[in-house]
Amino acid sequence: MNPNLLSSRLNLSALLLGFLILLSMPARAQAPDEWWAPDWLIKSAYSPSFAVRDTVNKYGRYADKTKTITLADLIKFHGHFCGGLVESAGALRLAFDSLFPSGVIDRTDLRIASNNSACGGDVAAYLTGARTRFGSQLIDPKLTESEFVVQQVSTGKTVRVRVRPEAYPTDVRTQMRKLESGNFEPKDIDLFQDLQWEYAKKIVTRPLAETFVMLDSAGYVWPEAPCKALGTRKDNSFKAAPVK
Ligand SMILES: [Zn+2]
Repeated sequence: MNPNLLSSRLNLSALLLGFLILLSMPARAQAPDEWWAPDWLIKSAYSPSFAVRDTVNKYGRYADKTKTITLADLIKFHGHFCGGLVESAGALRLAFDSLFPSGVIDRTDLRIASNNSACGGDVAAYLTGARTRFGSQLIDPKLTESEFVVQQVSTGKTVRVRVRPEAYPTDVRTQMRKLESGNFEPKDIDLFQDLQWEYAKKIVTRPLAETFVMLDSAGYVWPEAPCKALGTRKDNSFKAAPVK
């Protein structure tokens, strides 16, 4: 057979084989339509994301691999995209940078205190693994909005972080007070969202240290657990068990 003809038949066979292999592969999952998280929020230069380490299973050891939590994940958990969520994520990014220089957050080894913000409290629980019912997520009304005290339990290392007072937009707070007063027009709801998103955009488009500041945590008195003792958390107890 003509060598050129043989070569072209082989090429055709390889092409056909490749096509058949492609057909037999499971369809790639379609990218999720994350309508709740605008591109500018997730893809901005300083959008915080979080590499976390957990255990593999209940009574399992530490996982070898980490998971990445994005603002889109936080919004999915919390329910909505609000200024408080982005603010809390930014503040905690700074806190974790100090607690975990390796960049990996150990969600089995943290306790955290925040005020009773619906938004900040959710971000605190999701990112730290702390839970109110196990006494590791604590509520301290003396802390300001998006102010957190975070402790690595095994070492006792503690950090405290908050929004720089000059970075907090007063128009957001003024509009929030107006809504909470009950004396508002429907357009005020939309204005509040616009102001919050504008604030969120500011947070994710400049270095986080321009919005947040670390405070001295020495002398911080942890509040009492808000729940009565309902039992000890045990699902992370075997994280450091030897392999054999
Ligand atoms: Zn919220």
